[in-house]
Amino acid sequence: MMRAVRLVFLGPPGAGKGTQAQILLERFGLRQIATGDILRANVARGTELGRKAKAYMDSGDLVPDDVIIGMMEAELTAGAESGAFVESFVLDGFPRTVRQAEALDALLARLHLPLTAVLLFDADRDALIERLTGRWTNPRTGRTYHVAFNPPNVVGIDDEDGGPLVQRPDDTRAVVVDRLSTYDTKTAPLVEYYTRLRMLKRIDGLQPIDAVTAAVLAALDGTDEAA
Ligand code: AMP
Repeated sequence: MMRAVRLVFLGPPGAGKGTQAQILLERFGLRQIATGDILRANVARGTELGRKAKAYMDSGDLVPDDVIIGMMEAELTAGAESGAFVESFVLDGFPRTVRQAEALDALLARLHLPLTAVLLFDADRDALIERLTGRWTNPRTGRTYHVAFNPPNVVGIDDEDGGPLVQRPDDTRAVVVDRLSTYDTKTAPLVEYYTRLRMLKRIDGLQPIDAVTAAVLAALDGTDEAA
């Protein structure tokens, strides 16, 4: 994948967006911009942004659009100005509302960085719950494992950097159920939004990790006209 690709990864929590973004990062150096990771880092550092976001995240709700849009405008504008990732990036977990999508369109038009495609990852509800409640995360890198489906070599330790793995506080069953219903009401309308723009490509997130990666690469092969 030598050409520039600018992607949105859309889909419910647990569908495999972060896992695939990490793989694209490792294989192709594609920069992953994960709003959840940025927010968690701010919560950990106790910044003003983190303080604004924490209660929403803990309850499985979305952080307000104005907060997220401001944060992502700063992130993308800084990246474009420094030339750090004008070429290629994956937006993982953003946009999550129609208002965020409209703000993103306007921003990318201003920066002359059109999206290549929007990949919709999906899996059924039971699989999503099973994946999220068994998930272990490296809080430093955002890399994830699963106790049964994708375990680390040593329990509680990241294969990659040897750092500790934690269970995210919002990966408990009660919050997971709320996050899934937040997705249904607030984020699922983006499927129609991006279908209308003819940008949407569907990926079956229920397959094994390698098969999902193959589907992602196949979907990107079909986007040459947008390169
Ligand atoms: P994630 O790591 O993508 O599952 O995000 C964790 C939490 O961060 C979500 O449940 C939301 O509370 C918040 N969050 C992440 N991305 C967004 C976004 N684009 N809009 C609003 N809230 C977000």
